[in-house]
Amino acid sequence: MTRNKDVTQSKDLTGTYDVVVVGGGAAGLSAALVLGRSRLRTLVVDAGEPRNAPSAHMQGYLTRDGMSPAEFLALGRQEIARYGVELVRDRAVDVSRDEDFAVRLVGGETVRARRLIVTTGLRDELPTVPGVAERYGRDVLHCPFCHGWEVRDERFGVLATSPLSVHQALMVSGWSDDVTLFLHTVAERELSDDDLRRLAAAGVKVVPGEVAALRIEDDRLTGVRLADGTAHDRTVVFVAPKAVPQTGLMERLGAQLQETPFGAYPVVDPTGRTSVPGVWTAGNAMGLAEQVVHAASGGYRAASAVVGDLIMSDLDAAVAE
Ligand SMILES: Cc1cc2nc3c(=O)[nH]c(=O)nc-3n(C[C@H](O)[C@H](O)[C@H](O)COP(=O)(O)OP(=O)(O)OC[C@H]3O[C@@H](n4cnc5c(N)ncnc54)[C@H](O)[C@@H]3O)c2cc1C
Repeated sequence: MTRNKDVTQSKDLTGTYDVVVVGGGAAGLSAALVLGRSRLRTLVVDAGEPRNAPSAHMQGYLTRDGMSPAEFLALGRQEIARYGVELVRDRAVDVSRDEDFAVRLVGGETVRARRLIVTTGLRDELPTVPGVAERYGRDVLHCPFCHGWEVRDERFGVLATSPLSVHQALMVSGWSDDVTLFLHTVAERELSDDDLRRLAAAGVKVVPGEVAALRIEDDRLTGVRLADGTAHDRTVVFVAPKAVPQTGLMERLGAQLQETPFGAYPVVDPTGRTSVPGVWTAGNAMGLAEQVVHAASGGYRAASAVVGDLIMSDLDAAVAE
């Protein structure tokens, strides 16, 4: 193990790192902080496209409620630098394993590591309705825990893309009494009797028919226009993007995945250890429900397991000698 005493290491990327963390969001930076403080030679490779970038504010992280996601990550990068952790702005495009892991970067370099922590998050695929992508993170939202308080009591629409959108409509009814579920691509017959009873109990209005576009005026969402030409005044629209987990690197190493209704994620133990020896994961690369606070916590947990794993494996090697 390389004892990391230097807080201003150069980034020559040569030699073998103790740990390479792929992804520098909340999960990766939190892991890197623990690794740096454990004196491990650590590199973070980060493409710099965190999932919550469309939002100006990050909510629900104790003591950081309302901070901008960019500022949160910038502070994280400052903190890991204090412990000599290196960070490169690059994308890992391939990985293989012989004695160590060899991670190939899009910039052409290959970095080597004894252990890997993959915190590459997930990509949100938005419904292709005009207006949705432009307003995403502002008045087109996906998560009431992230933004519900900020838009409480406004006129909500929910753009259904599957019968699961009923659940979203029921959830957001906790933040407003004025909720309309636009069925869009979902047929009325796909809703169960239970769905209909709960929607009625929550006071959610159900509107069948395809949504043609969102109405945007003066840089604000003001309504939803249906393909039949009718319009409904709404100031907020909730959508459920399709989650595309960024698990390619782990798959390349043969990691076992498990299907969920929200994509296929690696099978992990409670520390985030995947089925591939030496590879851990955390944050949205591990599951859709990982909010920032969970991602940071998962990164910590994975990193401390990696530290223990390296110490024990070095001790075992010493004993064997
Ligand atoms: C619009 C929006 C608003 C949100 N608001 C909130 C909120 O208010 N509060 C909250 O708790 N949660 C919020 N979330 C959820 C939050 O985004 C996630 O919980 C959090 O981003 C998960 O952190 P992560 O580190 O797992 O992934 P990310 O933050 O997505 O970080 C992953 C990083 O890995 C990099 N990466 C990916 N692939 C590679 C690769 N191959 N090589 C190198 N780097 C790579 C990415 O570029 C990115 O920088 C929101 C989500 C969205 C979509």
